[in-house]
Amino acid sequence: MTNMISEECFRENLDILNELVENSCFGAGRNAKDVSILPVTKNWPVTAINYASRAGFMRIGENRVQEAIAKQSDLGEIDINWDLIGHLQSNKAKLVVGRFDRIQTVDSLKLLSKLDNALAGIESEISILIQVNTGKDPAKSGIAEEMCSELIEQALQCKKIKVDGLMTIAPFFPEDPKIARQAFSRLRLLRDKMESDYDITLKELSMGMSGDLDEAIKEGSTMIRVGSALFGKRV
Ligand SMILES: *Cc1c(COP(=O)(O)O)cnc(C)c1O
Repeated sequence: MTNMISEECFRENLDILNELVENSCFGAGRNAKDVSILPVTKNWPVTAINYASRAGFMRIGENRVQEAIAKQSDLGEIDINWDLIGHLQSNKAKLVVGRFDRIQTVDSLKLLSKLDNALAGIESEISILIQVNTGKDPAKSGIAEEMCSELIEQALQCKKIKVDGLMTIAPFFPEDPKIARQAFSRLRLLRDKMESDYDITLKELSMGMSGDLDEAIKEGSTMIRVGSALFGKRV
């Protein structure tokens, strides 16, 4: 963690990233305002969160519950919304309610019901994204596309759980961007189907990371999750 970049360097990376996003949007005939950047600060110290916060970001992505909780207590009162983007075991559902605003990685009926139980009798609500393995990558978590209806149906029964949309992580094949693009395209089509089947709005399509954000934006991503392009490579 000693190789944290300077804030100036972070700002330069952010300028470059904004330009990439604008170019992708331009190529896709989209408005760059419709694609938000979620800075991913996993494996970096709280300094990374401070950089992002000072640059105007109000939301941060972390992928491990314990790491995020430790950072939350180090940071104290800071105006940040926390998104969990890593796998969540259902026995940790109690830990995330009240601490995370959104869980992007809901991938089982069991996890949904544990979250619902954990929310009973307390003030908090929670937003979720359903993680779908549209790239059918055995190395990735996320439900199969055919399971999505079942999860949406159950989530719609949970009063304190709000379904914001869908999330995917594309298979990692940098030499063949078509593979990622297809996974993103499938997530968009699935979102469209869920919206029309259940007459709901799923505003977020969380897809695209540093290496595949162009493909994701061209397929309709509303939120790219970016770590290394902002903070450098983790070593
Ligand atoms: C780490 C991580 C990211 C960011 O990855 P980069 O390639 O560093 O941009 C995005 N999404 C998830 C789920 C991650 O775990």
